[in-house]
Amino acid sequence: MKKRLRRTKIVATMGPATSTPETVEAMIREGVDVVRLNFSHGDIEDHKLRAQLVRDAAEKLNWSVGILADLQGPKIRIDRFVDGKVILKPGDTFILDAALDENAGTRERVGIAYKDLPKDVYKGDDLMLDDGRIVLEVTDVVNDTEIHTVVLVGGELSNNKGINKRGGGISAEALSDKDKEDIKTAAEIDVDFLAVSFPRNAADLVYARELLKDAGSRAAIVAKVERAEAVEQPTLDAIIEASDVIMVARGDLGVEIGDANLPLMQKKLIKRARKMNRAVITATQMMETMTENTIPTRAEVFDVANAVMDGTDAVMLSGETATGKHPDKVVKAMASICEEAEQATSTQKSRHRVGDYFRRIDEGIAMSAMYAANHMGVKGIGALTESGSTALWMSRISSGIPIYAMTTHKSTCRRVCIYRGVYPVWIHEKLTSPREANRLVVEHLLEEDIVHDGDLVIITKGDLVGAGTDGGTNQMKIIRVGDHFNG
Ligand code: PGA
Ligand code: MN
Repeated sequence: MKKRLRRTKIVATMGPATSTPETVEAMIREGVDVVRLNFSHGDIEDHKLRAQLVRDAAEKLNWSVGILADLQGPKIRIDRFVDGKVILKPGDTFILDAALDENAGTRERVGIAYKDLPKDVYKGDDLMLDDGRIVLEVTDVVNDTEIHTVVLVGGELSNNKGINKRGGGISAEALSDKDKEDIKTAAEIDVDFLAVSFPRNAADLVYARELLKDAGSRAAIVAKVERAEAVEQPTLDAIIEASDVIMVARGDLGVEIGDANLPLMQKKLIKRARKMNRAVITATQMMETMTENTIPTRAEVFDVANAVMDGTDAVMLSGETATGKHPDKVVKAMASICEEAEQATSTQKSRHRVGDYFRRIDEGIAMSAMYAANHMGVKGIGALTESGSTALWMSRISSGIPIYAMTTHKSTCRRVCIYRGVYPVWIHEKLTSPREANRLVVEHLLEEDIVHDGDLVIITKGDLVGAGTDGGTNQMKIIRVGDHFNG
């Protein structure tokens, strides 16, 4: 096993640029913890193949790597132009026409894939096309099919570009028919995480979880926060509550709420997710220029570092790896920025949930363990866990202490890959006595070079039955390395 001191996790998107075993292995070696299969592009066979590449590389390296399937969602898009693209100038009029043939777009009008869009927009609304590069102001809605606009910000507009409405308010269902089919594919691939795009509320996530369960999967649900209405309270808390992980989906969210509002919103979302015991991924354009270049811009270095200091669990790469020229270099660069940024004291000190009431025994143990660990100079924590939740609770508390989630379930190993400061350890032996549990944890930490003789280690576990970690966590032990063979 590789010694990994980096606490922040890296999610990397697979794509045409990551299609050889060598590239995938190189990316994982450089630090990818979770890979993302983007269901907005590619077909089922592509995704299956990519998942297999990842599993083969992970197996070869003997590391756990999580797989995240990201649904396309109801991304609202224009259709296609006769000539592939048009140029729009400020002051021009332009029509989005739900009744137009999908390939018949011209300088005057273009079709739209989401036929109900005319019902969601009103005179005076701003429509942002191509991630906000083009802005159209609605002047009129005619016959429930034509949206008449005037161009505010012009430029080149090409086929199938996305449409967002400034301020949000497009009512499209979060799960399209394609998404529902893709959920089955995701279950078949046996992914560890399922990301739902454009959820409007908690119900969208509950529904996705239901479909996923019906398809036979227990993957964690990632709510992509990317609509203006999703960041309003009480919707936001309900969305966080209904999911396991949230994604600060800065691409679409930035277009809807305005980029200038994003930095504060990112901090708020990360803080809230952590407070509510959920993990959080910060996504989109973090290392954008490395799609082409071999080094990031200084602004990108700061962006990644700031997300780390905000407390994010993971940072994500999209096109940088999927279609980029240097998929392994960008992972390496990102990993080193994370490691340095983690040295900030704000990421190691905590007043987390001091006023909270803990409802569960395992939660109480997890929180006590962190309190003791932070106040006694404990060097490492071994959490014997079934579902990984003990490790999740622990990792919501900022500390520089590595948390080893030790489990007999490989699926739990892959799930904890997204938690900051948590490292999966797969246990393949039966633990029959507390003494053996001590030995297992301490030996692993010694092997990782995390602890030495005389150091303090915390172990949390349940009553040992069967495979060794059955039953909820109800015990915490503080042991000194060297004395650990004494039960
Ligand atoms: P996407 O989601 O890359 O699927 O659009 C992330 C975002 O909007 O930031
Ligand atoms: Mn998005």
